Amino acid sequence: VVPELSPHRDELRAAARAEPLGLYIHIPFCVDRCTYCSFVTTRDDSLKPAVLERLVREIRAWGEALDHPALDTLYLGGGTPSVLERGELETLTTAVRDAFDLRVLEEATLEANPGTLDSDWLFAARELGWDRISLGVQTLDDDLLERLGRIHTSTQALESLEEAAGAGFARISADLMVGIPGQDLQGVLEDAQRLAELGIEHLSVYLLDLDKACPLKAQVEAGRLSLPSEEEVAETYEALQGELPRLGLHPYEISNFAAPGQESIHNTRYWERRPYLGLGPSAASQLGRWRWNESGVLGAWAQGRGSAEIQELSPGEQLAEVPLLALRMHRGLDWRELRERASRMGLLALVEAWEHQLTPFLREGLLVRDGDRLRLTTRGMLLSNAVFQLFV
Ligand code: SF4
Repeated sequence: VVPELSPHRDELRAAARAEPLGLYIHIPFCVDRCTYCSFVTTRDDSLKPAVLERLVREIRAWGEALDHPALDTLYLGGGTPSVLERGELETLTTAVRDAFDLRVLEEATLEANPGTLDSDWLFAARELGWDRISLGVQTLDDDLLERLGRIHTSTQALESLEEAAGAGFARISADLMVGIPGQDLQGVLEDAQRLAELGIEHLSVYLLDLDKACPLKAQVEAGRLSLPSEEEVAETYEALQGELPRLGLHPYEISNFAAPGQESIHNTRYWERRPYLGLGPSAASQLGRWRWNESGVLGAWAQGRGSAEIQELSPGEQLAEVPLLALRMHRGLDWRELRERASRMGLLALVEAWEHQLTPFLREGLLVRDGDRLRLTTRGMLLSNAVFQLFV
């Protein structure tokens, strides 16, 4: 990507100087493939040396191309970053430290699978400066974990939470999933409650997404498994919105809950449309008016052959992303600020047209307006795609 974007290097450098960036690194390896997974990842670790070597080269090349910009967030996701050996994690971390300016770094998150963790690895990660960990718990029901093809049990997930805290991770997040075939939806509430009582400060609750081909989707389509109804899923989501704040976890985004001050700074940058660089197969970047996705073809990416999809966003496209992303957040969107920004860009007519088109959603109770702030209601969050269509 660096050579393809090099004619715009000055512009990209200026964007990277204007404010600190977030850096996402994708680790495309897992011990086994979950039955619902459509991420770019593989069990074949024969590709690991080539992928890590290319990642280090990319980290250096981008540091150089952007004149060693400051990072305020760092995120190692996947796949399963916790399959990295300690030495491999150190190599990547050192490469980032050498290529970027980390003096204003506020958060460094690792994603981890409870089936891959041990205390030594967690202590080593803390020593390297990683200070937040996001654990893929998904459910505390062992039968459902097996159905999802997860490699861990609920006991292992709970032990991992304890081990992470013991290793000095003060910021721990867990993922839960809603809508698994056969899931007792009361169980989701109980899982969330159990995790909150264990003291986690952040919870992400995702709806099971079977849009893309995967073994679980095939089983559902063949009638061997059935999904909970939309009404049941909606009820669970509403119950979580009511229950989690009582346990100290407040909703701050459609799928995310946190104790005050424990919101994910890295993920919030996506919703605030702040710039980020993504390295690794399938990773997405956005800097200035440019957006690009690395190739998702793993073997080709590892050998530097996969071509990236580069897109130049028009001023109208950039503006439309502001409400589209801000409305995902609980605090919503400052409509006056949007108007002022549009006016500076000569695009006020666009915002006025949206204002008109949003009126039915306000009437139907999917949106509420509170002074200058526009927010989705809980029902609006469940039906958010209808609202978001306006800005696409
Ligand atoms: S751990 Fe995550 S990335 Fe890996 S196979 Fe499972 S869902 Fe996919």
